[in-house]
Amino acid sequence: IISTKAEVMEKAKEANVKFIRLQFTDILGVLKNVAIPVDQLEKALDGELMFDGSSIHGFARIEESDMYLRPDPKTFAVFPWRPRDGAVARLMCDIYNPDGTPYIGCPRNTLKRVMAEAEELGYTMQVGPELEFFLFHIDENGYPSLKTHDRAGYFDLTPIDMGEDARRNMVLTLEEMGFEIEASHHEVAPGQHEIDFKYSDALDIADKIVTFKFVVRTIAQRHGLHATFMPKPVFGINGSGMHMNQSLFKEGQNAFFDPESPLQLSQEACNYIGGLLKHARAISAISNPTVNSYKRLVPGYEAPVYLAWSGRNRSPLIRIPAKRGMSTRVELRNPDPSCNPYLAIAACLKAGLDGIKTGITPPPPCDRNIYEMTKTEREEFGIGSLPGSLEEALAELAADDVVKDALGPHIFSKYVEAKTTEWEQYRVQVHHWEIEEYLTRF
Ligand code: ADP
Ligand code: MG
Ligand code: MG
Ligand code: MG
Ligand code: MG
Repeated sequence: IISTKAEVMEKAKEANVKFIRLQFTDILGVLKNVAIPVDQLEKALDGELMFDGSSIHGFARIEESDMYLRPDPKTFAVFPWRPRDGAVARLMCDIYNPDGTPYIGCPRNTLKRVMAEAEELGYTMQVGPELEFFLFHIDENGYPSLKTHDRAGYFDLTPIDMGEDARRNMVLTLEEMGFEIEASHHEVAPGQHEIDFKYSDALDIADKIVTFKFVVRTIAQRHGLHATFMPKPVFGINGSGMHMNQSLFKEGQNAFFDPESPLQLSQEACNYIGGLLKHARAISAISNPTVNSYKRLVPGYEAPVYLAWSGRNRSPLIRIPAKRGMSTRVELRNPDPSCNPYLAIAACLKAGLDGIKTGITPPPPCDRNIYEMTKTEREEFGIGSLPGSLEEALAELAADDVVKDALGPHIFSKYVEAKTTEWEQYRVQVHHWEIEEYLTRF
């Protein structure tokens, strides 16, 4: 791992790098970048490169628009698909104010702030995301379609799957960029895939999620395919999720593992689950941030709807995978890949820490299939549900001080402003379904 300025300079020379892309995300998680020739690299590494923040979503006002980029040497990676002679490399950056303080509108700084809070208690958060995506064909005019020639299903190996070649190339490219790929497989829906990489600390994984989406899209395009992380592109089949496996390590050991307790889960693990469940409705405004996200969170498509946890079945919001020891973890199943990973991870960590700090006891695990329970039975067990829409989720967020705190006041207000506009734009549209349903009936 590269960790100093000198090492980056050396590596860039060795890899014959000509251009550097300085990358960061806006508050919605959209990747931005500024390209610089390699002779500016030293200046960039010293944090002396300035950009105009006023044109970035959720960043500063015009009158305070000078922002500085501070690249993180650990994120140096060469783009394997670009020429090797005069190569292109990237560095992920934090955003700083002209006075040298971290900028509060920077999602990466925000995650670091919450991680520091965990570190005060001796914890390092570990995250293992499972990103799902669709590969669709590009039509004659170069536009992405919803067509797939692939009829494969979960774990299938088929000659008709054009996506297979693309996926193989994605895996190889990601490996070259420092990902440890654990598995890749065809998912349940036609054209749907999943690539899993090894868990790591929260910041490294948030950077990796952003990089992953960028690489998958780039490689798909080179195979004449369009990769989409849209949560529910096609009605009637599974949508794409981003399960977030999470645990806390303390002194190099998994703090969620306790061989002595009945479920072999520690007190911390239970409180963390309690915190996640308590704040899940507010978190969804961040982890499921689009109008479309809520079309995935419906019964019948393996996505969670109800607020419960289980060590066994996959219907609740939180599953405890069977593995113990270092792999002891909590799997949160509602996040989808349209979220800003820095903010989503920060929100989960904050909620889990709240569970630990205030000693939240979760309700008993629910090992029944919740989808087969009646509404009255669910009420008896105290099982609530996730928000049904972005609008509902935003109201939950506004009412949850812990999750608001994870974002900080600046990002919270900019985020809610942007998302409320998104909801309003959607709300006033006349949708295809309405025409089908009403045009001839009335
Ligand atoms: P699933 O059974 O839900 O399909 P996968 O095998 O696809 O699970 O993904 C499991 C993820 O959990 C991987 O990214 C893996 O690295 C990660 N993981 C393993 N141990 C931990 C841990 N202690 N903390 C967080 N994530 C972990
Ligand atoms: Mg998986
Ligand atoms: Mg799996
Ligand atoms: Mg999956
Ligand atoms: Mg999973």
